[in-house]
Amino acid sequence: MPEWKKFLSESITSAEELAKFLDVDKQEVKEVTSVYPMKINRYFLGLIKQKNDALWRQSIPSIEELKQNVCVEDPLHEEQQSPVKGLVHRYPDRVLLLVSNNCAMFCRFCTRKRKIGHSETIKRENIIEGIEYIRKHKEIRDVLLSGGDPLLLDDKELDWILGKIRAIKHVEIIRIGTRVPCSLPMRITKELCEVLKKYHPLFVNMHFNHSQEITEETRKACNLLAEAGIPLGNQTVLLKGVNDSGEIIAKLNKELLKMRVRPYYLYQADLVKGTNHFRTKTELGIKIIESLRGHISGLAVPHFAIDAPGGGGKITIAPNYVLEKTDKKIILRNYENKCFEYPEPE
Ligand SMILES: *Cc1c(COP(=O)(O)O)cnc(C)c1O
Repeated sequence: MPEWKKFLSESITSAEELAKFLDVDKQEVKEVTSVYPMKINRYFLGLIKQKNDALWRQSIPSIEELKQNVCVEDPLHEEQQSPVKGLVHRYPDRVLLLVSNNCAMFCRFCTRKRKIGHSETIKRENIIEGIEYIRKHKEIRDVLLSGGDPLLLDDKELDWILGKIRAIKHVEIIRIGTRVPCSLPMRITKELCEVLKKYHPLFVNMHFNHSQEITEETRKACNLLAEAGIPLGNQTVLLKGVNDSGEIIAKLNKELLKMRVRPYYLYQADLVKGTNHFRTKTELGIKIIESLRGHISGLAVPHFAIDAPGGGGKITIAPNYVLEKTDKKIILRNYENKCFEYPEPE
């Protein structure tokens, strides 16, 4: 058995097991996991340093998940924007194809908390239907594989899916959204990279939320992917008590660049039922971007995006640097709050 499968097979899913490793309230964990299942692998568990630290909060069930509030199961209306099961077509030229319902761990703030750990595994025939939809829709030039985690599929299955999508002439780029480089980095093997590199241009977007998640193993995983010629990006979710400050995000993003991973999006947490305790004020995201821009490499500055409730898609918001604008000129402030004027062409 490959190392990564061994880690997965030894994942912790019950309060009893968890209590052997961490100081948790068993009753509380039981109550929460009867509604929202738990899964945490021994690799990620080993990175937790203390109670309620950034990694604990992402992976260990909290009673807060059961509180009622404004959050709903499918805030992004993915189900309504799904012409065939497991495919979301929200934007004109690209689709999201869900190819796996499995993950290396269950993040407590998951956007697809309604599905993960509950629903049946995604069937081959659903994936085939999705691929057929892409084949029929010539406007689709960008296919994002997501889930669950696509990289929890076996190399062979992935090879088959990627081959089918790559054979469609109008598909220009393929993207894989995965948390595996962070949550189970030993899954990134030479063999996997041999499969992925056959389907270029292929991009991998990963998901790190805190610099404590960056280890020798993640460095090795990112190096293998980069050596396979895959452009690497990262998506971070802004989470209360996990990464809710400019310092934490700056440190994370600088570390990511050292692994050749380009920060892409910083997301406002979605209005997902069971995750309300992770939400921050939108003002914080804007402040964080302002604390980065100009102060550190522009490469380390992501877009701050709110995925609009109701299926409006990602809307990026940024600090306002425009003080005044007329037909003749624009007056701007820079990151040091100094003012500058740029004259418009006649
Ligand atoms: C995020 C997302 C995409 C990709 O958006 P980009 O801004 O192009 O990265 C596509 N489809 C859906 C449904 C998404 O949620």
